[in-house]
Amino acid sequence: MYYVKIKCPKCKETAELASDFTFVKCDHCNLDISYGEYVKYVAHNDVTYSDILGDYATSTEGQTDGTLDEWN
Ligand SMILES: [Zn+2]
Repeated sequence: MYYVKIKCPKCKETAELASDFTFVKCDHCNLDISYGEYVKYVAHNDVTYSDILGDYATSTEGQTDGTLDEWN
């Protein structure tokens, strides 16, 4: 078995994922969780991140429309 370097979802340092997907470990913050927990952790963070991106896209869209109007 080997370990795959991944980004720790907790401290953003380098964590290790077991090649058989049984667990994720991080020496930096002592993270030691199952892969299932890891996926949930990342999925939760992604939802939060998507919300932020969604808000950004909406405000940018308004600006783009204004620019296009000026061009017309
Ligand atoms: Zn960590």
